[in-house]
Amino acid sequence: MTEIKTQLSTLLNKIEQFKNSVSDQDKTVKLLAVSKTWPAEKLRIAFNAGQFSFGENYLQEALIKISALSDLEIEWHFIGPIQSNKTREIAEHFDWVQSVDRWKIAQRLSKQRPAELAPLNVCLQINIDDEESKSGIAADDTLDFAAKINQLDNLQLRGLMIIPAKTDDPLQQRDSFHRARKLYQQLSILYPSVDTLSMGMSADMQEAIEQGSTMVRIGSALFGQRHTLNKT
Ligand SMILES: *Cc1c(COP(=O)(O)O)cnc(C)c1O
Repeated sequence: MTEIKTQLSTLLNKIEQFKNSVSDQDKTVKLLAVSKTWPAEKLRIAFNAGQFSFGENYLQEALIKISALSDLEIEWHFIGPIQSNKTREIAEHFDWVQSVDRWKIAQRLSKQRPAELAPLNVCLQINIDDEESKSGIAADDTLDFAAKINQLDNLQLRGLMIIPAKTDDPLQQRDSFHRARKLYQQLSILYPSVDTLSMGMSADMQEAIEQGSTMVRIGSALFGQRHTLNKT
């Protein structure tokens, strides 16, 4: 119990420290707690320690937790691949979707967003290193895709989400983050609603923050090493 609390405050301190090392970074860097594979009780502990936004990758697993924690004011982010038969439940139960990379999916999310809820916050997932195995749209298509997304009534364009290619070369990694940052800047000039550059995970959050991330998605550095993946 105290472990998560300690990990959380260690993480928040690190984020603050990395942020302060960048002279032009005056905005806060938000922490998204990535809770895939961890049971609802762990999330409750983190919530009680002050963490209120959580990211989930697998819909069925997420719905169980959303229901178990419905007494808490949690902000839920969907960050995994989206199949079109899952869009309705995502639109009904989440506050954010960070993995939007197909027009058909975006249209469905907008159409299925319940009228009584605020628009669904979305980030476009960009395949910043053009990896064949990875989801996300090509960097060159970002502005065109954003223009279309911005037309959808029940979606609110908030920014970009990127996962750079795995590499041992710090220069290459920095270059990926830097290109993402440039794209994000172009986008935020065009759309006042854009305020989120979601990049950085447990292993690369320092580099990501130094390159201008506004939201890091952290799993293992907060909850510990994941042992299983309950894919549903
Ligand atoms: C699992 C996951 C994370 C968190 O990864 P850690 O290395 O555990 O911090 C972040 N973003 C996405 C999209 C993920 O799937």
